[in-house]
Order: sequence, then C-alpha cells, then structure tokens
Amino acid sequence: MRTDKDCIFCKIVAGEIPCYKIFEDELTLAFMDINPANHGHALAIPKEHWEDVYAVPDALLAATAETVKRVAGAVRAVLEPYGVNLVQANGPGAAQSVLHFHVHILPRTKGDDLRLNWGLRPGDTAEIEAISKKIKAALQ
Ligand code: AMP
Ligand code: ZN
Repeated sequence: MRTDKDCIFCKIVAGEIPCYKIFEDELTLAFMDINPANHGHALAIPKEHWEDVYAVPDALLAATAETVKRVAGAVRAVLEPYGVNLVQANGPGAAQSVLHFHVHILPRTKGDDLRLNWGLRPGDTAEIEAISKKIKAALQ
C-alpha cells in the first residue's frame, strides 16, 4: 500500500498515532477532526497516501466519496445539523494543511458564521470523543 512515513494521516492509518475512529472499510477510514471547526467535524480519507484530488486514483476517490456519504448521513442523524458542508482542499491557496487527500464532513449550525478557511483551533477531546461514539454507533 502506498504510504508516507512523515504523513500524519498515514500514521493514523497505521495505528501509530490515535484517532477517534468512526468508520473503516477496506480502502477508507473516517475519524473526527482534532481541531473541529464545529461540533461533529469529521474527516474521510483513502487509506493509501495520495496528496490531493489530482493524484488520487479514481477508484479511491469513489471509495472515499461513498464513505463521505455514509458519514454525512450519520452526522445528520446524530446531530440534526442546520446543514452539512463537504470541504476538500488542494494546495496552499486552498489552505490544505495535510498532504493526504481528505474530505471534511462539516456540520453547520444556524448563524455559526463559519468561513471556508476557518483556521485550526484544538478541540475539547472529551467532547470530540463523546460525539465520535454517537456517530460511530450510527454507522454500525
Ligand atoms: P486541511 O486543512 O483541509 O488540509 O485539513 C486537515 C485537517 O486535518 C485539519 O482540519 C486538522 O485539524 C486535521 N488534523 C490534523 N491532524 C490531525 C489528527 N492527528 N487527528 C485528527 N485530525 C487532524
Ligand atoms: Zn498519508
């Protein structure tokens, strides 16, 4: 499998660093964002290391899209958000900070005034863990 020893998401895939995992299948993984822009902010990735949308093979893009759809449904069921944005960044101009293809599943609340490039602020890990359990259960 294609991997990058310096990539934080590859380390998560390898189990070298922890994450709040909510879903996994053969090709993809979904887990909670550790700097959530909003409560319930999750990420979906292909397990293989591909930098961005230009590099990721079509089959892995499609597999990730399926996982994104599943997770979005679970996030909607658990949080009943005002809406959900799917956000995917490519390159520094788009504020891509992790160079392993990923899609943000970002629940919205009314009036949250969230900007597209929201900036990274560490979340409350107890809160992230609690919501990860609910979303994970909805994905069983
Ligand atoms: P982007 O800025 O679009 O590249 O998104 C990368 C996302 O990965 C950011 O929202 C980070 O908060 C998130 N992130 C970075 N490291 C971790 C980690 N160890 N566990 C969970 N999320 C992470
Ligand atoms: Zn990687």
